[in-house]
Amino acid sequence: MHIPILVAGGGIVGLLTLREIHKIFPDADKALLEKGHYFGDAASGRNSGVMHAGLYYPSDSLKLKFCLEGNSLWEELAHELNIPFSRCGKYLVAATVDEVEVLDELFDHAKTNGVQGLRWVKGDELSTLENYCFVEEAFFSPQSGFISPSAATAAIRDVLFKKNIPLMNDYEVTGVSKVGNVFEIRTNRETFTCDIFINATGAFAPSLRRQLGLDDFEAYWVKGNYLKLNKKFYTDSLIYPVPPKGLKGLGVHTSFDFDGGVVRFGPDTQECPKGYEHSLNENLVEEMYPAISKLFKGIEREDLQQDYCGIRAKIKRHGELFSDFWLGTSLEHGVEGYFEFLGIESPGLTAAPALAKEMAKQVGHNFSKK
Ligand SMILES: Cc1cc2nc3c(=O)[nH]c(=O)nc-3n(C[C@H](O)[C@H](O)[C@H](O)COP(=O)(O)OP(=O)(O)OC[C@H]3O[C@@H](n4cnc5c(N)ncnc54)[C@H](O)[C@@H]3O)c2cc1C
Repeated sequence: MHIPILVAGGGIVGLLTLREIHKIFPDADKALLEKGHYFGDAASGRNSGVMHAGLYYPSDSLKLKFCLEGNSLWEELAHELNIPFSRCGKYLVAATVDEVEVLDELFDHAKTNGVQGLRWVKGDELSTLENYCFVEEAFFSPQSGFISPSAATAAIRDVLFKKNIPLMNDYEVTGVSKVGNVFEIRTNRETFTCDIFINATGAFAPSLRRQLGLDDFEAYWVKGNYLKLNKKFYTDSLIYPVPPKGLKGLGVHTSFDFDGGVVRFGPDTQECPKGYEHSLNENLVEEMYPAISKLFKGIEREDLQQDYCGIRAKIKRHGELFSDFWLGTSLEHGVEGYFEFLGIESPGLTAAPALAKEMAKQVGHNFSKK
């Protein structure tokens, strides 16, 4: 079967991209292939749900550009599609004296990045924070927020369903090749051809592109685990540590659910010796407790229980860790009609609506020429 536009990967990035493409080409046939039974069951459903404000990323990075744009786009989308969203803000906390200098640098960097409304925490607000945390110094970022990732994915999926766009679950893309001007897309069920192929398969994107002869990127996965707190805690705003040097994440912080106010701590950073799988270590509480008790007061090991984990889709380029987002078009890789997202790790949820708009724009230029 020939479908002019095919997207592989039904996470938040693939779903939003298809929605944006449909806005530009409402009459073109298009479809999405997802290998799982559910949409958004990989990284998109296994994260912290934090709407990042752009504090951490290099000023000239795509991560910053799309994070800032995505942060405000989500607020509009949440309103339009009735997705739970909170502009709860977040505290960045130096728990020890030796973290203060790094916190000061982070504050200055965030200002340079154009993050709005940053302020140092003082007076009564500081005393309140000290009830729950070890604090040497802290600042507050009001533009940081929280969204329900599962509600967000479900809302976008439903929008596409209502427009009768085929979203094909249990369809794993097993092979891709270009024959003349069309792509042949082989799946576990049937083979399709298409003119435009968009690879939004997250952690698996590098292995899929390799089939088109593009082998300068390889996948590198880092697991992040979460623990659930079994008692009440300060939940109004997010609380983050100073990012530990050399760690492949932002450090163990709080996050929560809209329904029932469950508080979590995570994610940590662990290698994936068993590949891409979501099992939890038996001694996770023991492993994560030092990072939690360093920042948060009054939490005992028995207050914590295992919750879930997600896998960060990092990439290596020529063997080196490549730490920015990568949006690939023929200008970079030379394969006309092929588009790709690589390395969409955090803040990928925040950035997703902006990434999708940009990709749809690129696809639009290409498709109009056909
Ligand atoms: C632990 C953790 C915490 C995070 N916290 C945050 C946060 O707080 N804020 C934030 O902004 N971002 C966060 N992120 C990042 C965010 O979750 C991701 O950037 C985002 O979900 C990426 O979406 P995606 O659609 O690219 O990938 P995915 O959600 O992984 O989707 C890819 C899809 O492709 C499918 N697929 C794979 N191979 C094939 C194939 N061959 N054929 C068909 N389908 C295939 C998969 O099944 C999957 O559904 C976090 C990530 C992790 C892991």
